[in-house]
Amino acid sequence: MTAAQSQGPRVVIVGGGIIGACCAYYLAKRGARPVLVERDEVARGASYGNAGAIVPGHTPINKPGRVVQALRSLFNPLSPLYIAPRLDLDLIKWLWRFARTCSMEHLRRAMDVLGPMGHLSRKLYLEFLEEERPDCAARTEGYYEVYRSEKGLVAAEREAAFISTYGYRFEKLTGEELRRHEPCFKSDVLAGIYAADAITADPYKLTLAFVNAARRLGAQIRQKAKANRVLTTNGSASGVQLSDGELVTGDMVIVAAGAYCKPLLRRFGLYLPLQPAKGYHIDRQYSAPGTPPLRVACLLGETLIFCTPMGEFVRFAGTLEFSGLNHEIRRPRLEQLTRGARLYLSGLEPGPARSEWCGLRPCLPDGLPAIGPVAGVPGLWVATGHAMQGMTLGPVTGYLLAEWILDGKPSLDIAPLSPERFR
Ligand SMILES: Cc1cc2nc3c(=O)[nH]c(=O)nc-3n(C[C@H](O)[C@H](O)[C@H](O)COP(=O)(O)OP(=O)(O)OC[C@H]3O[C@@H](n4cnc5c(N)ncnc54)[C@H](O)[C@@H]3O)c2cc1C
Repeated sequence: MTAAQSQGPRVVIVGGGIIGACCAYYLAKRGARPVLVERDEVARGASYGNAGAIVPGHTPINKPGRVVQALRSLFNPLSPLYIAPRLDLDLIKWLWRFARTCSMEHLRRAMDVLGPMGHLSRKLYLEFLEEERPDCAARTEGYYEVYRSEKGLVAAEREAAFISTYGYRFEKLTGEELRRHEPCFKSDVLAGIYAADAITADPYKLTLAFVNAARRLGAQIRQKAKANRVLTTNGSASGVQLSDGELVTGDMVIVAAGAYCKPLLRRFGLYLPLQPAKGYHIDRQYSAPGTPPLRVACLLGETLIFCTPMGEFVRFAGTLEFSGLNHEIRRPRLEQLTRGARLYLSGLEPGPARSEWCGLRPCLPDGLPAIGPVAGVPGLWVATGHAMQGMTLGPVTGYLLAEWILDGKPSLDIAPLSPERFR
């Protein structure tokens, strides 16, 4: 039975990124009737051009020592983490809350939730890839984190040891071992860590695959449909009003509009302290003639640049820039991606890029997503704030919300992710 034939609840989902797409897919799979409304084309927001690394077990950016790093970055517009100095009260409050959660105690609490979610997300991805076989350059053999400095390596080993307590697999490799796997690593790459549990893919094609699978299961996909307002009937969420005045009605609403959720939720008194964190990518034809291409994805440790082979090209993605809700490309920061990558990789020809892009990660100050119901408004749900982990946590977010909506409770305890925690 498809969603169109079922009598399950009609769920209006706002936002056609990986989060909205996965909500639509798992709801349709369970017999609900999702209607996804996307103001642009689906999969064109942050989910379009990210690094495509599904890295379960990844920690949030809130860690001990991050505050000092953030303060230093204030004065260096080329550092991977950059906060454009400006007077913005929301940003100042965000940074204050961020600073308060850069502790080991918070990191443990965060990982107690994210650890199990990562395992389930990986399982769901493997099932999806097996069932749908999407053409999205998916690779399931993990990735390397490589380092040029002893200091970087020591910090990475410490982090890997911590994450492995949540059941994730890591292996330390010497520079020689790394070069045996990937001859394009330069000789001053000292050593690295192999993370076996990661999956990589072209995120645009992967997100589209979820949208298409949801459509096949009966979900309605409405593009060029901007939701201006969440509607309520007798106090319960009952649909959205589009910018052209059309009412899209339903039994409930999930707001999954990435960095753009705030205006839709404000009228319900839910102040989500979301900040957009800009990241960039450059796609390049990788190898010069005679140079072996990069085959497996890698994180260039000290620069935080992620390099992902995506079929015909390699994507270089990274940087975390707090400069407001805009899509302005700061060229020096973009160009830093190739400059940084050349320190680690041989065979990177200068030449025209195949694509240059920036996108906005939806970031909450405690580094955790907001997933769950909005108190006082029955039928209104939120799924955003996935920051650097939206691809990683997309399926588990959609799966758990489908359980919560249809069964009354999710199979993993995600109460600490409640959107209400900021009230
Ligand atoms: C450079 C970079 C690299 C990254 N690398 C990774 C990575 O390797 N792994 C990983 O897990 N994550 C990564 N991320 C993070 C990841 O991209 C995000 O967490 C994820 O894409 C967020 O998904 P989303 O669906 O919440 O938002 P989006 O993909 O931005 O989707 C939100 C959608 O909502 C739509 N929308 C907004 N307002 C409305 C409205 N009013 N009505 C209708 N539609 C609306 C938008 O048009 C958009 O399509 C990276 C991000 C960046 C920028």
